[in-house]
Amino acid sequence: MRDRYARVINYLRFSITDRCNHRCFYCMPPDVEFLAKEKLMSLEEILTLGSIFHSLGIEQVRITGGEPLMRDDVVQIVKAFSKYFRVSMTTNGSRLKDFAEDLKSAGLQSVNVSLNSLDEYKFRQITRGEIKPVLDGIDEAIKNQLFVKLNVVVSKMNIDEVPELAEYASFKGVPIRFIEMMPVGRKNSGAVFEKEILDRLSSFELKPVSVQLGVGPARYFVTSGGNYVGIISAMSKSFCSSCNKIRLSCDGKLYPCLGSTIHVDLLQAIRSKYSHQQIIQLIQKVLESKPYQHDMNNSEIDSKMNRLGG
Ligand code: SF4
Repeated sequence: MRDRYARVINYLRFSITDRCNHRCFYCMPPDVEFLAKEKLMSLEEILTLGSIFHSLGIEQVRITGGEPLMRDDVVQIVKAFSKYFRVSMTTNGSRLKDFAEDLKSAGLQSVNVSLNSLDEYKFRQITRGEIKPVLDGIDEAIKNQLFVKLNVVVSKMNIDEVPELAEYASFKGVPIRFIEMMPVGRKNSGAVFEKEILDRLSSFELKPVSVQLGVGPARYFVTSGGNYVGIISAMSKSFCSSCNKIRLSCDGKLYPCLGSTIHVDLLQAIRSKYSHQQIIQLIQKVLESKPYQHDMNNSEIDSKMNRLGG
């Protein structure tokens, strides 16, 4: 599939739940209200949409949430999708210890695990979750030979830990990516930009490398010790001109961009018994309206990142 700017769209971020056992401050408030269960896509609806996206040329699917491992049928979803797609997942890691082996057997290729701090207290402040299960989950995923990448959303709360986190990743032998916090409809207070992150990593003598670890937008560097460090600079250096993705929310709404209010409701279409051809037309409508670049500071953007997978 191509959009109107001739960008090839072959990557779908597929959110399967808005639920999460953490409450990262940049994602959801402590008293977040989750959608009623019947508003979420069922397993059957997820698989139907998966096969339609496959017929349209999507090659890579990243399963997101909320926290995808909150869904009991997540292994079934991975197993079904891995027949069509290269399947990866973004997770907070807290349940990975229990799921890593089954996910690997089901065909999952890689996991991005959020790790915003190594300090127990600070981790709790940022996520309202516990760090120990996450570190155990990372170890289990590595043991099961999943390709693991660590994701750090950098803010004023953890900028001081950037070198320590890079050191930890080196020790584990996994790439780490530092991500500029995106406001998604809010003011971006507390955000830290690429320059400051790279300054903090000066002792690692980073050298730019043209390596592609997955299909995401990270730019990679190699440290003097030989580990990969990525930067995802959605705010200070937009990568929109080479964007290859679309996003499906857990309630079945297809968005052309995280920073856009445009969407079509594919779940409603399925429940209204639209034909596959009619659903394909809706998907094409979203592609035609994919903006050239995000408008992340627009306050009308739905800030419910947990439904859309940030
Ligand atoms: S960012 Fe991820 S881990 Fe944190 S609350 Fe949102 S869905 Fe959960």
